Amino acid sequence: MENQLKFFNFSCKKCGKCCSGRFGDNAVYVRFDEIEEISEKINLSPDEFTVPLIPDLYNFDEESETCEHKLNMYKILENISFQIDEDGFVHTPGRMLSRKKSGDCIFLDDKIKNHCLIYDFRPDLCKTFPFYTISGRLDYCKCEGLEKKLDSFELNKHSDYDEKIVKMSMLLDKREFKDKVEMESIKHHFLKNKNKRFGTKEGLKKAYKNAENNLIKCVVYDINEITNVDYYF
Ligand code: SF4
Ligand code: SF4
Repeated sequence: MENQLKFFNFSCKKCGKCCSGRFGDNAVYVRFDEIEEISEKINLSPDEFTVPLIPDLYNFDEESETCEHKLNMYKILENISFQIDEDGFVHTPGRMLSRKKSGDCIFLDDKIKNHCLIYDFRPDLCKTFPFYTISGRLDYCKCEGLEKKLDSFELNKHSDYDEKIVKMSMLLDKREFKDKVEMESIKHHFLKNKNKRFGTKEGLKKAYKNAENNLIKCVVYDINEITNVDYYF
């Protein structure tokens, strides 16, 4: 991992774009252990700062300064119909951080510009942004602080770079491992529901009916439990 990372010149510019709703997908998946930690530290229940993990591509509207769903909810439900059971419940593999009306992350400070209110215990996804791994292979997202790949001459110019690379590498490895453990247990819970029928027309119809009232009935899989959540969007 360190060998892959060292060719990227990354230094966070604190532009806040990855936390804001104005610049594309800012959904932050949070693991169960992270939810527990945040919940304890800020003394809020998980439902007060997370929502079920459902694709919700946002579009920022300059005039109203709010974010709207890029796809309407019916289209989103149609796209994830394979996750909808015959009773119209959407089964989701965990939770993501809630967002404000503006589309910004719920923890982006309204008073101090680009300041994260839970910076010291923010989710791993935020700590490792813009990098992520898929089966140990490094990839990255668009980010203000990520510059072109370094050549071997430039590599030597960065004296503190080794330390940063080691730290990021450890974080990415830890994140991949923990995400995998959580996903395995979610898969295990999911198999308990294999008697249910998914992707049926009547299930989708029931989910549409709920959506008329801005409601998505969800079954959320966490590492230890399965919870029914009424998600109002
Ligand atoms: S990680 Fe990138 S996008 Fe996010 S605040 Fe830093 S420079 Fe900006
Ligand atoms: S938790 Fe903090 S760092 Fe992560 S998206 Fe929200 S404001 Fe940004």
